Amino acid sequence: MDSEFLEISELRRLLDEKKISSVELTKHFLTRIAKINPSLNAYLTVTEAHALSQAQAADERIAKGGTAPLLGIPYAAKDMFLTKGIRTTAASKILDTYLPPYNSTVIEKLNASGAVLLGKNNQDQFAHGSSGESSAYGFAANPWDTTRMTGGSTSGGGAAVAAGIAPYALGTDTGGSIRNPASLCGITGYKPTYGRISRYGVIAMASSLDTIGFLCLSAADAAVITEYIAGQDAYDGTTGAKEVPTYHSQLKTDLKGLKVGIPKEYFVAGMEPDVEKLVRDAIKDIEKLGATITEVSLPNSKYGQMVYAIICPSEVSSNLAKYDGIRFGHSTANAENLLEVYMKTRGEGFGAEAKRRILTGTYVLSHGYYDAYYKKAQKIRGLIINEFNEAFKNVDVLLTPTSPTVAPKSGVAKDDPIFAYIADQLAVNCNLAGLPSLSVPCGLSQGLPVGLQIIGPQWGEQQIFNVGHAFQTATDWHKKHPAIG
Ligand code: GLN
Repeated sequence: MDSEFLEISELRRLLDEKKISSVELTKHFLTRIAKINPSLNAYLTVTEAHALSQAQAADERIAKGGTAPLLGIPYAAKDMFLTKGIRTTAASKILDTYLPPYNSTVIEKLNASGAVLLGKNNQDQFAHGSSGESSAYGFAANPWDTTRMTGGSTSGGGAAVAAGIAPYALGTDTGGSIRNPASLCGITGYKPTYGRISRYGVIAMASSLDTIGFLCLSAADAAVITEYIAGQDAYDGTTGAKEVPTYHSQLKTDLKGLKVGIPKEYFVAGMEPDVEKLVRDAIKDIEKLGATITEVSLPNSKYGQMVYAIICPSEVSSNLAKYDGIRFGHSTANAENLLEVYMKTRGEGFGAEAKRRILTGTYVLSHGYYDAYYKKAQKIRGLIINEFNEAFKNVDVLLTPTSPTVAPKSGVAKDDPIFAYIADQLAVNCNLAGLPSLSVPCGLSQGLPVGLQIIGPQWGEQQIFNVGHAFQTATDWHKKHPAIG
């Protein structure tokens, strides 16, 4: 291969023209993982034998004339996705040796498409975090500068795609966890409309906010992958009955007539001036492609982070209740009675951040506090949703920075309790309102990537893919890669 960073359409061409086989391609990635992963810690588990047997099966399908966009192409998955018989930890000691008995729906769909799973990526523990540093297995380093964080919680997926050791990586986004690492690692990250992609078989964090998406190399790749993994699923009652459009074939490079809103509240205090400049330059590029730009106001956005800080731990505390040492995962060896089994298992298995969220969530849901915190937060969430709905009566998409800073130095999250507040403030409102959004690279500040966030109305994936694709056709920020390996 001439480049470590080929998009899906380019890999497809190599496979269809028999320039490379899926087994060769898979070996290429496995060799590169062996070489580079020790310095990045992007993978917790590399599924070498499984990958080679999937690649062999893909080659057999290709030899019989089979072709489909993802057939024979490798990918990686965050360790939140259940993979049958393959260790799945959520980066927590409580699931250290867990072997799931079934696959998540998205993994099943990729299996049916002939995709090849390279391994499971590092992440923040149970996806709690914005830096990757709450992982029980060490944090993933940013390939642009290994003294810096990748962003989180899909930290390993960000590092893997940015370093060319996975063409794309499945992730979860509950409050920015795909878009944040996409921005800090200089790659494209897609968070879908709530209900667009099944979450069945993906370890739950906060169920009214959780979405399944991925990190990849371009908006065009995002359109292709989404076609294969989206859609209603009988096993996930929150998925919508909407048909999945052929996003990729409908991509546009011309944005004439597109109405773009710039929410003024998203250019926040504390944003790095260079980040703001690069995002504003990208908005000008999008205007040159034919879009009309207007400023809009979303005044309730500023409450999003506080609302998230109540709803997220509430749902986390109930979703983590099942890890009790009885049914699966770690079970303490030191208990004298049942209560001790629960207490010691959870005490030994969960990391500090999971414990904090269980405590906060249980507190805000408890009698006497529910109305004051949870109910109030849900009401403000309603206001945030209404405000977006109003804005989308006048514009087709919103453009904002994804993260207000470039990748900070590793370790900052531990010492700075408001780090996550700053990192997630531009992302969480999309989760509260269930909106799709795409982060695309839009420049380098002191050699580090900056991301542009493209937010659409519910089910508006085509618009956000179009804007991302048009921007990436006119610019080459998504083609800049770190010098690693
Ligand atoms: N950083 C956010 C949190 O810690 C988002 C996490 C996520 O999207 N999974 O809650």
